[in-house]
Amino acid sequence: MQKLEKLYEGKAKKVYKTDQPDLLWIAYKDDATAFNSLKKGNIANKGVLNNLISAHFFELLAVSGVPNHFVKLVNEREQIVKDLEIIPVEIIVRNLAAGSMAKRLGLAEGLDLGSPVVDYCYKSDQLSDPLINDDHIRALKLATPGQMQVIREIALKVNQILTAYLIEKNIILVDFKLEFGLHKEEIILGDEISPDTCRFWDSQTKEKLDKDRFRRDLGRVEESYQEVYRRLTGKEIQ
Ligand code: UDP
Repeated sequence: MQKLEKLYEGKAKKVYKTDQPDLLWIAYKDDATAFNSLKKGNIANKGVLNNLISAHFFELLAVSGVPNHFVKLVNEREQIVKDLEIIPVEIIVRNLAAGSMAKRLGLAEGLDLGSPVVDYCYKSDQLSDPLINDDHIRALKLATPGQMQVIREIALKVNQILTAYLIEKNIILVDFKLEFGLHKEEIILGDEISPDTCRFWDSQTKEKLDKDRFRRDLGRVEESYQEVYRRLTGKEIQ
């Protein structure tokens, strides 16, 4: 397969055309941003680790019957995915209170929510991804109620699969963000699943192993991404 012209450069990834019309070539970057790009930085090897970690989760999910856009790795920083028509809604699934939810509702970080809480945000950098509900999604015609029902079911299934898998790796899945798109009318999971888009805590020590180390200047950022990769695969990157 051939990598053709760049279509788009986002905060964490570059997207290229390929010589196959329904496939894209994704290159993961080391750039890190937080708080709607107010905080900018660079995490050494993040692109490599997130590419490999995302691929690992997408393969696990495919085996467990969750259709997703991942096709294959090209190299340690790049992967081929199906070209989706992205639905501009971020789906956030939470098991424990953390981040914006803990702040907004005055909850202690780590509070067990009993059963998963699903939040939706409108994907808009200009508006800083505002929280929205099913009625907003319908009124703004971002997705149909039927599509949202399918998306919610898949997101909760992803939560079950990843929570059970990660607990065996000594990791608590606190919360995570998913994006979905349409591929020939079918709803498919897209984007990435990585320490940039999930909160991972060590099961015993509750140490943060994710982007909160960057957001909150906790140090050992690269080491934490490496630690997640090591626990998932038993391997180290070079
Ligand atoms: N998240 C993300 N991209 C976003 C917003 C959130 O990947 O634009 C992830 C974030 O890493 C966390 C979960 O979604 O795992 C919930 O994030 P939250 O709403 O608490 O917002 P944050 O604290 O990241 O501002």
